[in-house]
Amino acid sequence: MRIGIIGLGLIGGSLGRDLCLNPENYVWGISRNESTCEQAIAMQAVHFAAQDISQISQLSQTNLIFICTPIAAILPTIAQIAPYLSPQTVITDVGSVKVAIVDAAEKLWDRFIGAHPMAGNAFSGIQAAELGLFQGRPCVITPNTQVNFQGDFQDNFQSSLDALNLVRQVWQSLGAVIYECSPVAHDCAVAWISHLPVFVSASLIQACTEEVNPIVADLAKHLASSGFRDTSRVGGGNPQLGRYMAEYNREALLLSLEKYQLVLQAAIAQIQANDWQGIEELLTQTQVNRSAFLD
Ligand code: NAP
Repeated sequence: MRIGIIGLGLIGGSLGRDLCLNPENYVWGISRNESTCEQAIAMQAVHFAAQDISQISQLSQTNLIFICTPIAAILPTIAQIAPYLSPQTVITDVGSVKVAIVDAAEKLWDRFIGAHPMAGNAFSGIQAAELGLFQGRPCVITPNTQVNFQGDFQDNFQSSLDALNLVRQVWQSLGAVIYECSPVAHDCAVAWISHLPVFVSASLIQACTEEVNPIVADLAKHLASSGFRDTSRVGGGNPQLGRYMAEYNREALLLSLEKYQLVLQAAIAQIQANDWQGIEELLTQTQVNRSAFLD
């Protein structure tokens, strides 16, 4: 298969490294920086890389293009490459939000299928790319309603289904566990398990580092151990990614933050009321719920 990757960072580079292991694949990549192109070739994340789509000689034979840029650049990238592609090419993305991308992307390219691999590490850029990053990890594919639509748009339905199968098959070949849902369901679910935790964790870091007593602040720093390390990890990650979660998944994130605020407010009220039995019951419930949720 001929595959293109635009945006050779952590996710694009990791995808490329896995895809290049299959001798039946030819993988080209686009990065804005020459040094990233050189590094991607050297680490066998692509067979060929260039800074501009017009330099890709295999373009018209490309079966599938992954857009792996930051969220804000996904739609402009599709609009930029569309005039150069063969109509059969399927475009997919890896963006962490889907509602803001999928509808608009399908208007730009009818063989677009949104996806979001739930994998990563604390780093960014091509040097962070890992082999086997997606092995055993969920990958959410978000076909929109058109894919299930039958009737006047039968031809469109057929081509979308074939595009969906291609995207599904490639992620499966990388060992990902596939989930399929609507873009809205995806965005609400990731608000709970990915976007809300970033803002809870960031608020923890911010509140803790605003301690005004220098003796307490210094002592807390020295005493901080695995508990603080675990709960502050996602709040100390890539700031641009966190900003895009808020900007592009605003509605779902606000709903989950408001619900979280209510639960926190109830716990504050219990503590203010010396309701220790109620607090123990709450924490007994969350202990059970955590195991059930993660299992
Ligand atoms: P990254 O490591 O920063 O890589 C993004 C790459 O895109 C950069 O290497 C950059 O390469 C290129 N790029 C940056 N701005 C661009 C622009 N305006 N136009 C074109 N290319 C641009 O980020 P990442 O973590 O791989 O994230 C990429 C995508 O994956 C995002 O949409 C994100 O939502 C999604 N995602 C991330 C994770 C995660 O945990 N990190 C997990 C799942 C999905 P050049 O500067 O060389 O062009």
